[in-house]
Amino acid sequence: MTNSEKPRILIIYTGGTIGMVETADGLQPFDFSHLMDNVPKVGQLGYQIDSVQFSQPIDSSNMSPAYWNMIVKDIADRYDQYDGFVVLHGTDTMAYTASALAFMLRNLRKPVVITGSQLPIGDTREDGTENLIAALQVAAAKDDNGDPMIQEVVISFQDYIVRGCRSTKFTSTGFHAFKSFNYPVLGTIDLHIEYAKPYLLRHQTAEPLNPFYSLDPSVLVMWLFPGISESVVKAQLATPGIKAVVLRTFGAGNAPTEQWFLDALSDAVGRGLIIYNVTQCQNGGDEQKRYYTGDMLAKAGVISGYDITVEAAVTKLMYLLGAGLTSDQIKEYLGISIVGEITVG
Ligand code: ASP
Repeated sequence: MTNSEKPRILIIYTGGTIGMVETADGLQPFDFSHLMDNVPKVGQLGYQIDSVQFSQPIDSSNMSPAYWNMIVKDIADRYDQYDGFVVLHGTDTMAYTASALAFMLRNLRKPVVITGSQLPIGDTREDGTENLIAALQVAAAKDDNGDPMIQEVVISFQDYIVRGCRSTKFTSTGFHAFKSFNYPVLGTIDLHIEYAKPYLLRHQTAEPLNPFYSLDPSVLVMWLFPGISESVVKAQLATPGIKAVVLRTFGAGNAPTEQWFLDALSDAVGRGLIIYNVTQCQNGGDEQKRYYTGDMLAKAGVISGYDITVEAAVTKLMYLLGAGLTSDQIKEYLGISIVGEITVG
């Protein structure tokens, strides 16, 4: 491979277990040189790899829109210089980051591959090395036309490549930590890396990357359970400053039909709150019209989340709220798949 043929990949190290070491105080984020020292195999790929890192690598439990802005800026500032981007990230909030980046990196046409690990790369038995190498290969892959195989934000982890805004961390201990419950996997990583081409995102327009930096986090997630009290519901809906509520409903998008509950929702909608129906089930979605109980929610002004994940629901609301749209426009976009986050039609 001549230098000009080598895939050029930028690694963005944010923190997480993949770059952690054991200290007297437990696992702590280390600096990126530790990671590269421990993964000499990366050199065997023959890629041109550069890296940037957070000045203070974080445990991803501390992830926030401010950090998402930093990742987006790292990508946007260097977008033309690289064929693909690998974001190293803790697993705990990786699915939120993958969803947020999918909305924020508007008109993305290059791979943004997020990975991490369940065990630190420095451990004797670990999953970080393989995950990193595979992520680099996914970021470098081309399709038959010589275009990037992946033109969206994905999570590449253990044996699978999944769409970022469809992903969920479903186990805190298993090496296969991420699933896409409502959309087929985009690729499998075994002896070969195989791509599920019909499911890969391809945009129709050729607009340049248009990064978005103004997420509005005025969102609340309200989880229903049998016996939830009027005061708990009303207190949450009256939370100062919130503009949208992700309502975690039962089954196919159902909720109690007690009058106080429906009145509380109608009242909140009347005050301008957007209430977004996202089922507590990981698989399937809400069909508000299927049962009387769901239909009552629609009548109270609750918007269907279809089969969206809670991670994508929260970040999609942050994106739409931050975009300066009217309430009607936001409701319209909630029913549209922007980057493949819901199945509609
Ligand atoms: N707590 C860690 C984090 O999310 C776990 C991990 O890296 O997987 O940053």
